[in-house]
Amino acid sequence: MKAAVEMDMFGCPNRCKHCWIGHGNNAHVSTKDFIWVAEQFKHYQRDGRQLFDGLMFSSWYREPEFSDNYRELWELSKQLSTTPPNRGEFELASIWRLARDPEYAPWLRSHYVNCVQVSLFGMERQTDYYTGRRGNFKDCMRAIEILLDVGIAPRIQIFPFKSNLADFEILENTLRELRLEERVKDIGREFTCFLNTISTTGEGFNLEEVRINRNELFGLPSYFLEKTLKNFKTESFEKLWPTEEELMPLLMEDDQPLNDNPPVISFQVRSDFNVYPNCGENAEWWRLGNLKDYGINAVMDTFLKHGNPGLRLNYSTPLKYLAAKHGDRHGDRLYDRTDLGHRWIRMEVMGK
Ligand code: SF4
Repeated sequence: MKAAVEMDMFGCPNRCKHCWIGHGNNAHVSTKDFIWVAEQFKHYQRDGRQLFDGLMFSSWYREPEFSDNYRELWELSKQLSTTPPNRGEFELASIWRLARDPEYAPWLRSHYVNCVQVSLFGMERQTDYYTGRRGNFKDCMRAIEILLDVGIAPRIQIFPFKSNLADFEILENTLRELRLEERVKDIGREFTCFLNTISTTGEGFNLEEVRINRNELFGLPSYFLEKTLKNFKTESFEKLWPTEEELMPLLMEDDQPLNDNPPVISFQVRSDFNVYPNCGENAEWWRLGNLKDYGINAVMDTFLKHGNPGLRLNYSTPLKYLAAKHGDRHGDRLYDRTDLGHRWIRMEVMGK
């Protein structure tokens, strides 16, 4: 089995209202503890044989490179990993650091990073509100310039909510004034900009009130709509994000469980050494166990035997059971199927 092991060593400067991981504290995990965690997974055996034939370690899964010693942590992660990580594969980087640390963008470039995602929620007031940090919008604008200066393309992700729709025209003008299309082309890449829906896990579960419907989506400037279809390589928003009402007839007949299987299995180790699988969220009902208290054997037993409510609901409970109990036949909000399934899993474990 190949897997990633990600440790939340330092946390995140933001407190995004949609954060799928959830708001943990900003801890200070020592390098010694990170190495200890890596050793647990590297030496883990099942039936006398190594279970993992490839492991990739990371010192973050909230804000990338939030710690000042990010360079050493990157080198250490590479040394510990048995499948060498490639920084260039990620499109995530720290906007906070880009706006403050002049050495960071050149470092990213020297590690083959070609593109970095910048997430907006409208203009300044809305973006700062939804990311929980005053000054974040200004940091995003600054980061765009800094990235372009070193030859990295900014990739703009925007979340439309019922409460920020009025910002989209001015946001379009702002992006056009920045001439991103031309400037990204000048560095040999194609400019990507897209709308996105939010996950229903973590903090995102509490944002359902502002999740948009199709009329609201189609009221947005065609600039964003066209770029979104291109980004997701689809011709229809109906396919990309159906409404709950459209999904219900299919899911009411679906004997299969959700089976959310991310392309890379990842074990997320929180600063308190609790471990969570990336097919779920950092919540009690997905917890695999605590590495310090119970050890790697108990953690992996829970994972492999689907020994917590989240895993059982993901891998064993038919979707039609969850749909009948929690679905809304007249729901007009837009989802993707997996996000709706996760919403129902959470409603089921919370007894809603
Ligand atoms: S979504 Fe990302 S940037 Fe926002 S709070 Fe969560 S980890 Fe931090």
